[in-house]
Amino acid sequence: VLAASLRDLQKDYYLSSETVRALRGVSFDVPEGDYISIMGPSGSGKSTLLNLLGCLDRPTGGSFLLGDEDVAHMSDDKLAETRANRIGFIFQSYNLLQALTVVENIEVPLYYSGDLTPESRQRCIDLATKVGLEDRLDHRPAQLSGGQQQRVAIARSLVNDPRFILADEPTGNLDTATTQEILGILAELNAQGRTIVMVTHEPEVAEQTGRTILMRDGRIQSDERNMAFSGVS
Ligand code: ADP
Ligand code: ADP
Repeated sequence: VLAASLRDLQKDYYLSSETVRALRGVSFDVPEGDYISIMGPSGSGKSTLLNLLGCLDRPTGGSFLLGDEDVAHMSDDKLAETRANRIGFIFQSYNLLQALTVVENIEVPLYYSGDLTPESRQRCIDLATKVGLEDRLDHRPAQLSGGQQQRVAIARSLVNDPRFILADEPTGNLDTATTQEILGILAELNAQGRTIVMVTHEPEVAEQTGRTILMRDGRIQSDERNMAFSGVS
């Protein structure tokens, strides 16, 4: 079963002075349960690719199937609904709301999906507990370490129980030990069968995933299984 399938995917950005060809024909399949890292120099199209995978944007050419649904031709509403219900997002800078507590931050996606209920509060507390923040439920982001903030973001990404998780340099602001903690949590989510695609600049991080796609100038330069990867894939 494929979580996603991309064929000759293209993305142009139309500026007043020029057209930027950010993706110039990208093709690959993402089998369900895959754990992929995307690497490549700055400007090679990694963020653009992640934004398309996350249904934050539409391609300008080629095809992109998420499950068996054609994302390129989805309406804006359907795109937003797909994003809210099927995909979890994790960012380098955590993207937490400073005025909200840990539990309230984890609840945020439920506003978008319309699933905020009296019962959902307990689910958010359970998720906070799962990522080791049971003693921090009422803390605000500024009172937490970077690793703890990223744990909040991971719990938030899971609140709608998505099968597909996208992470944009999730360990980019973390030290080595904290990076390993976060990678441990991601490996566990992958072992539960969730599909993960992560952009990273760090080879030591990429080699702990199941597959590395290397981008260059809007194209895939290489796409290889990491033979040392021992996780479920
Ligand atoms: P990476 O994530 O690998 O650094 P990006 O996907 O951010 O690469 O960028 C790929 C190319 O697209 C770059 O030339 C970048 O300047 C351009 N680009 C990215 N986003 C936009 C945008 N919103 N508008 C115009 N150009 C963009
Ligand atoms: P980075 O830290 O790699 O720069 P950003 O914080 O710029 O990543 O996030 C990428 C884009 O995704 C931004 O335009 C941001 O507004 C958008 N975004 C973040 N979270 C969500 C979400 N849950 N749903 C939809 N869009 C989101």
